Amino acid sequence: MLIRNIVNIISVIAGSLMLAAIIFDKLPWWSLFVLILIWLLITGYGVANIRSGYFLKSLSNNSKINQRKIAITFDDGPDPNTLEVLKILDKYDVKCTFFCIGKQVEKYPDILREITKKNHVIGNHTFSHDKLIDMYGTERFTNEIKDADHIIEKYTTKRPLLFRPPYGITNPNIAKAVKATGHSVIGWNKRSFDTTIPSEKVILRRITKNLKNGDVILLHDTKTITLSVLEQLLLFLQRNNFTTVTIDELFSIQAYA
Ligand SMILES: [Zn+2]
Repeated sequence: MLIRNIVNIISVIAGSLMLAAIIFDKLPWWSLFVLILIWLLITGYGVANIRSGYFLKSLSNNSKINQRKIAITFDDGPDPNTLEVLKILDKYDVKCTFFCIGKQVEKYPDILREITKKNHVIGNHTFSHDKLIDMYGTERFTNEIKDADHIIEKYTTKRPLLFRPPYGITNPNIAKAVKATGHSVIGWNKRSFDTTIPSEKVILRRITKNLKNGDVILLHDTKTITLSVLEQLLLFLQRNNFTTVTIDELFSIQAYA
């Protein structure tokens, strides 16, 4: 059972008991608002944290793995900067997973082909990655996933089965959409914040601190700062005998339909 269902059942029971207590003057009326506030806080945490598995099952790391394997993932491409990322990955002979946005694929189909040509894995990161995408209803969100699938398949002949929700946000509509499309939802447990932190050192330290077998690293192939972070990260992994694998290999799942 999902945590969300447990929280909702407990909240309804607690709410009913409190309501009865309020009617019989055993509790002040505002105590019900305290319960609602607690529910909102827990639900908000679930929405913002893909790793919590609050609304849907997601794969954020594989703690069961006993080999020194980790996965590096790149979001929001393809982008001209992706070509520089590919050069660095080639230099270290490392394979990664790229969660691509449909709109970006439309703009840079050749860069998408270049990623697959190098045997990296492509995942779905919705078609528009709209700022308000988390407000979309189930049908509209389902179409976001399907449209991204179609355009990726058009240029690579492969239909992705791996899906990463934009901003790592999940909610009941996204859970229903993913159930309908049948994708595996992929999160992360090592967020680099390479889109917001201006210091390479800080970003690298965030990733490498306590790095464990089966960890999943989130980077963005759209950022120039990521290039130098990536090179230093690959050197760190080499020194510490970590092997970088694609998401499908890390979790023993299928990348394409
Ligand atoms: Zn994104």
